[in-house]
Amino acid sequence: MADTVDHDVVIIGFGPVGSTLAALLALRGVAVHVIDRDTDIHPLPRAVHFDQEIMRVLQEVGIAEELSMATIVNPGMDFLTADRRVLLSMRPDGATPSGWPASMFFHQPDLERRLRDRAVELGATTTLGVAVTELIDRGDHVAVSLADGTSVTASYVVGCDGARSTVRKQLGIEMHDLQFEEPWLVVDLVLRPGVEPPAPLALQVCDPARPTTLVPMPAPRFRFEFMLIDGDDPEAIQQPDTVRSMLAGWMEPDDAAVERAAVYTFHGLIAAEWRRGRVLLAGDAAHQTPPFLGQGMCAGIRDAANLAWKLHRVVRDVSPDALLDTYQAERVPHVEDLVGAAVGFGRLICTTDPAVAAQRDADMLAARAAGGGHVGSIAAAALTSGPLVTVGCGQQSQQPTVDGTRLDDLVGGRFAVVARSSALLTGEGADWWRARGAALLDAVTTPELASVLDAAHADVVVVRPDRYVLHAGDAVAVPDTAARDLLPA
Ligand SMILES: Cc1cc2nc3c(=O)[nH]c(=O)nc-3n(C[C@H](O)[C@H](O)[C@H](O)COP(=O)(O)OP(=O)(O)OC[C@H]3O[C@@H](n4cnc5c(N)ncnc54)[C@H](O)[C@@H]3O)c2cc1C
Repeated sequence: MADTVDHDVVIIGFGPVGSTLAALLALRGVAVHVIDRDTDIHPLPRAVHFDQEIMRVLQEVGIAEELSMATIVNPGMDFLTADRRVLLSMRPDGATPSGWPASMFFHQPDLERRLRDRAVELGATTTLGVAVTELIDRGDHVAVSLADGTSVTASYVVGCDGARSTVRKQLGIEMHDLQFEEPWLVVDLVLRPGVEPPAPLALQVCDPARPTTLVPMPAPRFRFEFMLIDGDDPEAIQQPDTVRSMLAGWMEPDDAAVERAAVYTFHGLIAAEWRRGRVLLAGDAAHQTPPFLGQGMCAGIRDAANLAWKLHRVVRDVSPDALLDTYQAERVPHVEDLVGAAVGFGRLICTTDPAVAAQRDADMLAARAAGGGHVGSIAAAALTSGPLVTVGCGQQSQQPTVDGTRLDDLVGGRFAVVARSSALLTGEGADWWRARGAALLDAVTTPELASVLDAAHADVVVVRPDRYVLHAGDAVAVPDTAARDLLPA
C-alpha cells in the first residue's frame, strides 16, 4: 500500500447509486469521498418507482420514514389493448419480507437530494462541479485525475457515473447488448389543482399505432411515455404543440403544465466486467434496463447494498480483497433476471406490427378468460449459491418488528444469527459467528423472530449485513472453507 492514500474509497458520481453507496459506507465509518461533475442533482425525475427492498436500504441509512411520507403506494399496473381491454393485471404483493409496501412511486429529485445530504451528514466528503478524466490503478491504490488538474488517491474506486460512464470507458469494459433499443418520449406533467390523475394506476397501452405508458407520481405530478414510431422526428415530437396533441386522448389540454418532454432511448445492457483490480462499477455504469418494470435505479441501489459491507470489511483489512470478487458473481444473475424480464415486457409493449399485435391480444385475452392474466410483484430473484450463500438460500430475509423497532435497526450493519431457541446458539458454530460480531437472537426470548425462521423453513437462519439469507438449517455450523477464508474473524 502507498504510504498514505487520501481516502479509503472514492465514488465517482453522486446520483442515486453513488449517494446511497456513500451513505452506507460513511455509516460504517469508511473514509469515503464522492466526486461529481455537476454541482447539483439532476433536477428532473427519470425514475418514478422503487420497491420494498430499496426502502429497506433507505431505512438502513436512516431516511425511510421521512421519504415514505413523500411516496405513494403503487396500486398496480394494467396492460391494455388499443381499445382499452385488460390483457394482464399486475398487482403488488400484500406481504413483503421487509414489511415496507411492495412497490411505491416517488419524486427522484427529492430522493436524490435527501440521499446526498444524508451521505454528507454521515461523514462523506465531496468534490462537486469537476469531472473525473482519468484513473490509474497503481496496484496498491488508485490515482484519480480531475478536469481541474488536481488528483486524489484511494484504496478503491467505484464508478457510479451513469450510462455513459467515464470509469467504464477508461477501463475499456464492453457492454453485453440484450438487443433492445427503443426511443420513447417521456412527458412529465404538473396537474392543476383539483384535476384528477388521468389514471388511478399505471397503464401500459399496447397500441401498435403508438405504445403508451401512464404512470402516477406523487401529487401533483403524472407521467406519460409515448414510443416513437417510424417516421417520428425526435426533435419535433418534443415540441409543446405536438406533446399537447398526444395527450389529447387522455386529458384536457389545460389540465396540466408540461414540466419536461424529452426523448430517451431505452436499452438493455450489462457490463462484461464489474470489477477490474481496485476499480468497481455500480448502477447504470454497470447495467441499463428499459424502464417498463421501474427497476433500473433499484438494481443500482441493490449493487450499493451488496458492495458496502464488503468494501467496509476489505478496507479495514478484516476480509481479503477476494471478498470483492463475490460482488459481480452475486449481482449479475439478479440483474440479468430483471433486465431480461423488462426486455420481455418491452417486446410485448413495443409491438407495432398490427397483425402481431392482434395475435398477441387474442392470446392474452384468451388466457385471461381462462383465469390467467394476473401477476404479482416482479420480485428480485434470490442470490445464486456461492461462498456466501448456501445452496437453496440467498432470499431476502424477513424483517419483523420487535417492540416497535424494525429488526434491521436492532441488528445494524452486522450479520445476524436467528435461532428457534437459545440452546441452538451454543457451540462452535455460534462462537464462530459471535467472533465476527454477529447479533445472536432467539425466538423464545423474542417471539416475533419466528417469522424469520418460518419463512426459511428452518430452525436457524444466518442473515448477511445486506439482509440476504446466507444459510438456513437446523443448527448453527461453522461455514465451509470458502466462507471462512472470506470472513476471517
Ligand atoms: C425515462 C426513465 C424512467 C425511469 N424509471 C425508473 C423507475 O421508475 N425506477 C427505477 O428504479 N429506475 C428508473 N429509471 C432508471 C434510473 O433513472 C437510473 O437507473 C438511475 O438514475 C441511475 O442512477 P446512477 O446513480 O447509476 O446514475 P446517474 O443517475 O446517471 O448518476 C450518475 C452521476 O455521475 C456523474 N458523472 C458522470 N460522469 C462523470 C465524470 N466523468 N466525473 C464525475 N461525475 C460524473 C453525473 O453527473 C451524475 O450525477 C428510469 C430511467 C429513465 C430514463
